[in-house]
Amino acid sequence: MRTPIVAGNWKMHKTIAEARELVNAMKNDLAQLAATGKVEIVLCPPFVSIPQVAELVKGMPIKVGAQNMHWEAKGAFTGEVSPTMLNEICDYVIIGHSERRQYFAETDESVNQKVKAALAHHLKPIVCVGENLTQNEAGQTQVVVSAQVHAAFKNISRDDARGIVVAYEPIWAIGTGKAASGAGANSVIGLTIRGALAEMYDEGTAQTIRVQYGGSANAKNVAEFFAQPDIDGALVGGASLVAADFITICKTAVK
Ligand code: PEP
Repeated sequence: MRTPIVAGNWKMHKTIAEARELVNAMKNDLAQLAATGKVEIVLCPPFVSIPQVAELVKGMPIKVGAQNMHWEAKGAFTGEVSPTMLNEICDYVIIGHSERRQYFAETDESVNQKVKAALAHHLKPIVCVGENLTQNEAGQTQVVVSAQVHAAFKNISRDDARGIVVAYEPIWAIGTGKAASGAGANSVIGLTIRGALAEMYDEGTAQTIRVQYGGSANAKNVAEFFAQPDIDGALVGGASLVAADFITICKTAVK
């Protein structure tokens, strides 16, 4: 039985004061939901707000994550943040978000390096994969997503792989208001993503790894995704910035 995981990716939104306000508006409800053990809830604010958010949810069953990290533990990498800095205050780290791949030249190789570094520093990776619109329309979804999964999990042991979360995020659905259909996302996750994991490891491992859906998931449409057998929660962007919406999404995951 895989516990669904709902993670809020705040992207580059909210000042520290606004982050405090948002967390205070939802932390008690989220903690109650997380305490049921039926959903794992992760907040991923921008780096500067992570210490504040971690402090506000301290002692609560709410997890904190980062949106990116460098793979080196320290060094001359101006502007970067390392896994050793994050693991003091974070449980999770999002790796390979399509916006990082698109705007910051992140590659399958750097994603793999970051996944390995996260695991080495006891951070749980949420690895994002997904095809763009052109690839989708050209019928390349399976090939593209399978290759991304193979690359991200390259040289990662079966035991480590089991602790990784995958987020299937079709790029055409992110921030566009045009979510995938529940059945469509379930099919990519079940056949392509779990298929690639079964090729690399075995069927049991492929069935153990949690795979979220992400892309314009919101309080109204999320039940359709959570009802799918292969979808284990959601990576939520825009709707995670509104307390009532994020609470509803987490509530829906518990039902
Ligand atoms: C995301 O940021 O990963 C995301 C899925 O964004 P949105 O929910 O806004 O589409």
